[in-house]
Amino acid sequence: MPPKALKVLKKMENSSYKLLEPVQCKLWNKGYLNDDEIRHWSFKPLREFIDESHMTRSLLKCDECGQLYFYEFYEVMNFDGGDDDIFYKYIPVESEKIAEEMSKMSPLALAIYTPQLQINFPPPKNKSQRGSNLISVGWIK
Ligand SMILES: [Zn+2]
Repeated sequence: MPPKALKVLKKMENSSYKLLEPVQCKLWNKGYLNDDEIRHWSFKPLREFIDESHMTRSLLKCDECGQLYFYEFYEVMNFDGGDDDIFYKYIPVESEKIAEEMSKMSPLALAIYTPQLQINFPPPKNKSQRGSNLISVGWIK
């Protein structure tokens, strides 16, 4: 059982906390990751921690291999009238307990965990970029 996430954060300043790699999961083994495919991956929702308009956090289970993932949808409002920044995270976890600890952390603090699968949608800088592929998708290992 991993130690409490907040204690880990204090103890491992400027470091990362290595989680077990989900080696059996197709999401881990895919060479090319497509954001649409990931967001429509077959997950079973096991528990909801937060369900708000700009943040959703839950525990998901991969239908195919049973891997547990801490999931976060996080939207940063742009009050200048532009599009919002949108971030998705899938962090492989060993237990519901560690996911529960993660659910109490700030979005920034969750960056200490590796590996994690991220999808980032930065807003377009101008109209010509609208609909273009600014999306970044990948594992942080
Ligand atoms: Zn899987």
